[in-house]
Amino acid sequence: MMNKIPQDPPLSPDTNDSSPLALPEGGDPPHVDLRSEGGDPPHVVHRRTRVSIHAVIPAAGFGQRFDPGAGSASKAKQYYELGGEAVIVRTVSALLAVELLGMVWVVLAPADQEGQSLLEQRFAACHQRLRIARIGGAQRRDSVLAGLKLAKESGANWVMVHDAARPLISRAAIERLISRCLRQGHGGILGLPVVDTVKRARSEPNDPLIEQTIPRERLWLAQTPQLFPADRLVLALERFPEVTDEAAAIEKLGDPVVLVKGEPGNIKLTYADDVHELALRLNQTANPLLRVGEGYDVHALVPGRALMIGGVRIDYPLGLLGHSDADVLLHAITDALLGAAGLGDIGTHFPDHDPKWRGVDSRVLLSKTVDAIQQHAWSIQNIDCTVVAQRPKLLPYRDAIIDSLACCLRIERQAVNFKAKTQELLGFEGRGEGISARAVAMIANSVS
Ligand code: MG
Repeated sequence: MMNKIPQDPPLSPDTNDSSPLALPEGGDPPHVDLRSEGGDPPHVVHRRTRVSIHAVIPAAGFGQRFDPGAGSASKAKQYYELGGEAVIVRTVSALLAVELLGMVWVVLAPADQEGQSLLEQRFAACHQRLRIARIGGAQRRDSVLAGLKLAKESGANWVMVHDAARPLISRAAIERLISRCLRQGHGGILGLPVVDTVKRARSEPNDPLIEQTIPRERLWLAQTPQLFPADRLVLALERFPEVTDEAAAIEKLGDPVVLVKGEPGNIKLTYADDVHELALRLNQTANPLLRVGEGYDVHALVPGRALMIGGVRIDYPLGLLGHSDADVLLHAITDALLGAAGLGDIGTHFPDHDPKWRGVDSRVLLSKTVDAIQQHAWSIQNIDCTVVAQRPKLLPYRDAIIDSLACCLRIERQAVNFKAKTQELLGFEGRGEGISARAVAMIANSVS
C-alpha cells in the first residue's frame, strides 16, 4: 500500500517540467486565471489538466479546551476577537488573499446564524469566492467531509483544509504548499520539525514521570493547511473516521503525504494561553513597513463610448476616450499602487501603443498590478479616491464602485473609500469635457 500515487488529477511529478505548475520553492506562483478576466473563480491552468483548488474551513466546533476567562467563556474560539477582529474573519481573509484558491468554503454549525451573518457582512465584496454552509457535524471530520463534498460538486479536484483557529497563516506558506503538492502530484501538509527534546510520560496523568526519550530527528508537528486530491480525501475520511487530522486518514489509505515547512507564527488558538502568543505575533505583523503612493488620470468625454468608472458601467450618453476602456478611476488607482511600490507608472507597464491593451477592461490592468504588488511582498492597506465630474452624478453608483474596487484589489470593502465631486462648473471637468480621478494607496510589507 505504500507510495500509491493518486490517479486524479494526473499531474506530472517531473520537477524539471517547464509548465507553470512546476515551480521551485520561492518562485513565481503558477499562472492563474483571474476572476476579473473571466467571470469564473480563479483556477490554475495546467497544459493537460485544469487544477481547481478549493479551501474548506471547518468551523462548527465549540472549542471545549478554550476558555479565555471572564466574560468570554461562552464564545467559540473562532469568534474570539483578536486585535479587534474575530479569529475566523482573519482566517478567511488570509485564504481569500490567495488567488490560487478558487472557492473558500466555511462550514458552520447548522444553528450558527450569527457566524453566517458576521462572515456575510465582513466579506460582502468577495461573496463570489466565499461560500458559507451551515451543515457542520459534531466532529471535525464530519464538517470537513460535508464541505469537501460541496467543493467537489463545484468542480474542485484538490481541496485544502485549514483550521478556523489558525488566523496568522501566510500567503507565502500556502503557496509553498500548493507548489510542492502540485509539482509532486500528491497531498501534503505544513509542519514544523520538532526542536525540543521529546519525552514520553508514563500513564499517570497527574504526576507524570518520564518513561522514555524519543529521538526527535524525524519528528514533525503537523499544522494546517493540508492539501489533498479531493477524491482521495473523500475516500479516506469515509473509510477512516477516527482521525485527528486529514493527513492521518490519507496516510491510512497508503498515499504519500509530503511535509512542507510551515511557520512558527501559524499558531492554532486552542488554549487561553495561546491568545497572548497570537496577540504578540499579530503585534509584530501590525507594525509593518508602510509606503504611500498617489495617482492621477484624465480622459476626455466623447460620444459613442461606454462610460466606465471603477469597473462599473455608468449610464450616460458620453464615454471616456482612450486606448483601453479609459476607466479613469482604475487608472488613477493603478498608478497610486505602482507609485507606492516604486514600480513606475501605468504607461510603462501597459503602454498605449501596445495593441494588446486596445479596448482592454482596465480591471485586468489593475489585477496585474495587484499581482505585481503582491509578488514584491506588499499588501494593500487601503485606497482613497476621488472622481471629479460635473456630470453624470456618480453617488448612485457609489456602492457598486466600492464593491468592484474591493474585489479587483482583493481587499475588504471597508478599506476602500470613494468620493465624487463636481468642479463647480470650472475647468474642463466643469464644462463636461472630461473626467479626472485621483487616488491614494497605502501598502505594507507582508510579514510572514
Ligand atoms: Mg488613463
